[in-house]
Amino acid sequence: MATTKTKTATAEKKKPASSAKSSTSKSTRGQIKASGNAAEALRELFVDGLKDIYWAEKALTKALPKMAKNASSEELVTAMDEHLAVTEEQVTRLEKVFKMMGEKASAKKCEAMEGLIKESESIMSETETGPVRDAGIIAACQKVEHYEIATYGTLVAWAKTIGQDDAAEQLQMTLDEEKEADMILTEKAYNTINFDAADEDMESGDETEE
Ligand code: FE
Ligand code: FE
Ligand code: FE
Ligand code: ZN
Repeated sequence: MATTKTKTATAEKKKPASSAKSSTSKSTRGQIKASGNAAEALRELFVDGLKDIYWAEKALTKALPKMAKNASSEELVTAMDEHLAVTEEQVTRLEKVFKMMGEKASAKKCEAMEGLIKESESIMSETETGPVRDAGIIAACQKVEHYEIATYGTLVAWAKTIGQDDAAEQLQMTLDEEKEADMILTEKAYNTINFDAADEDMESGDETEE
């Protein structure tokens, strides 16, 4: 610990904002080339983000019923059915936000959500019906909720930055709902389902003396 370097202040030189597009001496190796229709301003990036989450929410309206059908705990099924109803409203709310932005609602495939949904399917096929599958379903749903929380958190921030306060307000509502859904799932996991799943381990394990 003695050879700690002295504080090297990250004295980054401030570049004038106007130099953003000019050529720099920095190597461009590893830099991804932008496609022809790449976003040039935050507003565009924001609208792209809306399209991404619009696809994701719509995909979830199909995935959630499948997961609910595979859940055993009545509590969990109820939680998922309720979140399905909320998700359908979120789709409508996004359509409202598109309108506020003067854009027509359109979906662009969200690779992340597609992956999370695929993962939920493999979790279900890799677990026996009952508390163990339920624990897996909760885990899969929480990954989904966390992705949504991250996405809406960013969208709210961007909406505020570009002065779209009405859009920000709508998106904040959804963000709050996603956080609520995540909390409910955590409660279910901690209160019963994980314990029931752990009991299955004991039952399927070797006979213990008693
Ligand atoms: Fe959602
Ligand atoms: Fe996405
Ligand atoms: Fe994974
Ligand atoms: Zn959600």
